[in-house]
Amino acid sequence: MTSTVHRTCPLCEAVCGLTLTLDEGGHVTSVRGDKDDPFSKGFICPKGASLGQLDEDPDRLRRPLIREGDLWREVGWEEAFAAVKAGLDRVADRRSTAIYLGNPNAHSMAGALYGAPLIRALGTRNVYSASTADQMPKHVASGLMFGHPLAIPVPDLDRTDYLLMLGANPLESNGSLCTAPDFPGRLKALRARGGRLVVVDPRRTRTAALADEHVFVRPGTDAYLLFGIVHTLFAEDLVTLAHQVNGLAEVREAAKHFPPEAVARRTGVPAEVIVRLARELAAARTAAVYARIGTCTAEFGTLAQWLVDVLNVLTGNLDRPGGAMFPKPATEFGARRKPYAVGRWKSRVRGLPESNGELPVATLADEIETPGEGQVTFLITVAGNPVLSAPHGARLDAAFGRLDFMVSVDLYLNETTKHANVILPPPRMLQSGHYDFTLLGFAVRNYARYSPPLLPLDGQPSEAQILARLAVIASGLEGDLDEFVIGEMLRKATETPGSGVEGRDVAELRAELEGETGGERRLDLMLKLGPYGEWAGKGDLSLRKLLDNPHGLDLGPLEPRLGEVLKTASGLIELAPPQIVEDVERLRGKLEEDPPEIVLIGRRHLRSNNSWLHNVGPLVGGSNTCTLQINPADVARLGLDGEAVVRSAKGQLTVPLEPTDTIMPGVVSLPHGWGHAGSSQSVAAEHAGVSVNTLTDESTIDVPSGNAVFNGVPVTISPTGVIIAQ
Ligand code: SF4
Repeated sequence: MTSTVHRTCPLCEAVCGLTLTLDEGGHVTSVRGDKDDPFSKGFICPKGASLGQLDEDPDRLRRPLIREGDLWREVGWEEAFAAVKAGLDRVADRRSTAIYLGNPNAHSMAGALYGAPLIRALGTRNVYSASTADQMPKHVASGLMFGHPLAIPVPDLDRTDYLLMLGANPLESNGSLCTAPDFPGRLKALRARGGRLVVVDPRRTRTAALADEHVFVRPGTDAYLLFGIVHTLFAEDLVTLAHQVNGLAEVREAAKHFPPEAVARRTGVPAEVIVRLARELAAARTAAVYARIGTCTAEFGTLAQWLVDVLNVLTGNLDRPGGAMFPKPATEFGARRKPYAVGRWKSRVRGLPESNGELPVATLADEIETPGEGQVTFLITVAGNPVLSAPHGARLDAAFGRLDFMVSVDLYLNETTKHANVILPPPRMLQSGHYDFTLLGFAVRNYARYSPPLLPLDGQPSEAQILARLAVIASGLEGDLDEFVIGEMLRKATETPGSGVEGRDVAELRAELEGETGGERRLDLMLKLGPYGEWAGKGDLSLRKLLDNPHGLDLGPLEPRLGEVLKTASGLIELAPPQIVEDVERLRGKLEEDPPEIVLIGRRHLRSNNSWLHNVGPLVGGSNTCTLQINPADVARLGLDGEAVVRSAKGQLTVPLEPTDTIMPGVVSLPHGWGHAGSSQSVAAEHAGVSVNTLTDESTIDVPSGNAVFNGVPVTISPTGVIIAQ
């Protein structure tokens, strides 16, 4: 007998609802888009359609592994946890421990609920994640402008009249820091209702091809372009402020150095186009500027992300329908007691500042390799593969081999986890509950959906239990972590004026919580205390209500709410935070620099997601291949044919060429997450490709956020067989 079940797709930020058919044995026999989901309305992409194959991948680990020399031994869970404890007991100083959290932690309940307690239990400041290889510039810019790193305005996609999009390709990636199932359909709808879409990108991506206008820009120069637009708004008296701000004069002063004529040469965007974009933004009935990974993972990522919202403010489009708006998630983040700050501590070796409690992954190898007090000797990785995803991965690969002890929570034996002493595999996705704590905070429509586990655990610990057990081992404290967290949250809520439960009895409230697991009880608590909750909000939302509505609940369009969101000390938008403005000098210093002859950028594929979907047969091959896109003019100029050698300051690769006029001359593109030669993942090994992070450089970072730089990497290209004098 088959059964039909519904759940949220956990594979990307679009949070689509899926309808799955399972056979008697719990095997997925079909996956369709959930037509009754009010947010995704039946949309599905090839990744979601392959969820069953991924979930039942024969190469995924099903039992813990302990490494003995070069051999792996399958062990029971108690033996595995005992080995972790023995490894941690050998660490004399907790400053020598480190943790790396990969991108999937943003998609899992376990990552959202148990990552922070594990970090606290470990007692280290050596915290690294995929965020500093991705979106940290946005957190830093939002934290300093609006007072909270998660106060990230998203384009009001369904109502805007004009969208200026930089460094994003949602037709392949389905959007990021902008949760919007069927992003392609929403862009088409924007155009169909008479709106205008302008895409700025060094490649004519599928998104750019869909747009009304595509503007080619030199990689890494978005901050110059955005400053040119800001300059024009001031010069032509087009600034329209809808909110009180601090720092308007400082922004005007900074922009004086970047007139369109001056930035045109550096960006490759003609001055008249820059001026026209400024006029169009100012004249549009409503407009939003949105920029993503191509602009974040660049040398001036924070400046670019800051300028995006400076433009949204200067055009009067921040916090209004059709502009850039703040979502209201059902498990709203709490108030921040202290003003947001960066650089509260620095990394031991390079002195790089912390952001959001993390150090840049670009310096993890330094911390492992460099002797001295606090040298990292013990590492935990959770759902991450930094050997392939972090800059100069080959160095990290070697550094991991020098660790005294490493623990990986991961479903695969991969390029990173091969260094672990113990691997703890989480269960199948369908055995886990799913709620998008993080991603629903970036949704273009307020929405909530919970998917309970569809299959029993059969004796294996859940991912939540694995992380909670690691936290118990690291803290040395026994007890129920979830009930401890629930008690703390309830105590704070009952002591907070206006919380909705002020003065109520903690034990009584605790008894009202529902849920089969600690994670579900914590979700119930957060929903009840949230803005739509039955305790503190203006509604009746709870876990029960979400369970009764398995297709999800529409909570309405985005509404203006700047007053609730702003957490700056001044209570105003900080338009010119000093920590950001001081980086403008660095930008000015490079304005006149001649750009490198050829630079490397990354690219996204619809059938890929970082490094971990390359073992799913239906997703690899076809257009999802590891090739170097290069303009035919460069192919001819450099005398290339078939494949070429790409060299950077850090390494070299031989790569098959994909000549295409969709990429600017002087720019080449290689997707990331590849390089699986010798992998124990059979499909991935057959489609190994090469790792772009052989070429990227960990010594170049975006200074304010410490983010890695993957776009605009200087390279040289030569035919294979040509020996280059060193
Ligand atoms: S767009 Fe993202 S969330 Fe939607 S089906 Fe595809 S992978 Fe899943």
